[in-house]
Amino acid sequence: MSEIRLGILGGGQLGSMLSVAAKKLDIKTVIYSDDQDAPAQNFCDEFIIGSYKDKNKIDNFVKKTSIITYEFENIPYETLNKINKLKTVNPKPSIIRLIQHRIAEKDFVNKLNIRTTRYVSVEKKLDLESLSDFLPGILKTTTMGYDGKGQYPIKSLTELSGLSIDFSKDYILEKLVKLKKEISVIITRFGNNRYEIYEAIENTHENQILKKSKIPAEISDKLIEQSREWSKQISEELKYIGTLCVEFFIDRNDNLYVNEIAPRVHNSGHLTINAFNICQFENHIRAVCSLKQISLKKLHNAEMTNLIGNQILPFRQNLNLNKNEFFFDYLKKEIKEKRKMGHLTKVF
Ligand code: ADP
Ligand code: MG
Repeated sequence: MSEIRLGILGGGQLGSMLSVAAKKLDIKTVIYSDDQDAPAQNFCDEFIIGSYKDKNKIDNFVKKTSIITYEFENIPYETLNKINKLKTVNPKPSIIRLIQHRIAEKDFVNKLNIRTTRYVSVEKKLDLESLSDFLPGILKTTTMGYDGKGQYPIKSLTELSGLSIDFSKDYILEKLVKLKKEISVIITRFGNNRYEIYEAIENTHENQILKKSKIPAEISDKLIEQSREWSKQISEELKYIGTLCVEFFIDRNDNLYVNEIAPRVHNSGHLTINAFNICQFENHIRAVCSLKQISLKKLHNAEMTNLIGNQILPFRQNLNLNKNEFFFDYLKKEIKEKRKMGHLTKVF
């Protein structure tokens, strides 16, 4: 077989971890990123810096690769679509177009008869005044949000006057769910009805940023079954190839809601590196590159903690780890508040 050269758009920690998994499979990685400090350049075989709209640089990148994927969902759809005419892009670009837009994404999920939070489109501040039914809620930019960026919790109409929100952007207002738990399901789809599904992962957020993930999730069998079924249904309907994550809310009455779909490997799945025979990154590459599908085996229960901002420092300075602890440093140049700098996984 000729050598596979996997092109990855995006150079964050997910790109790094994909590169590490590719190495294990003897696949070379070429990363394209618009960030000259992209941490994945420390892990890939070749690194190209350029804007996601720079046609010449993208063409050069495409020439160096045999198949292409991406590690974050805010890559311009037009770029992916153009690339897809030259080389296969997995997951296919139309999936990105759908999921980049929070309203289109939720409309799609509801059409499958799968529950989401209640939501409404908001174009101007005035719209909000008639929407008390959706409060307390969270106003989110319809595109380009991640890690809680572009989100404004709104408790009541009286709060509105004090808010300075940039209404040149479009928003979605979501009714706040009284959360009991959050879970995610990571699924790798290889083709028609061919899946590997990881068990549901229980997630804890702080300030809308993921803080901890653990397996097993402490939820009922019924919720485990329903979240698996919905995730299968979503990935089948999208004809998805690769690893996908579905984020769910569980409310105080044990109702399950899809929060959002991430068309990529996902932070909550980092524990799969140490807890399963095949991690989410290797499975993504296996599916995207049409390699062999291997049945998942769980090796351990696990808990992953994100190290955000300064929390990385004690681990960098004094690495006294127990045998069951695994520390990952994303090697980001600058420590910033709210920035995911690394993670620690403990297995049990
Ligand atoms: P992001 O794209 O930044 O991950 P999410 O929509 O997943 O955005 O929101 C991040 C977190 O904020 C969620 O995981 C949850 O903890 C909280 N959150 C968001 N929307 C709601 C909601 N409608 N009800 C309750 N909590 C919410
Ligand atoms: Mg999310």
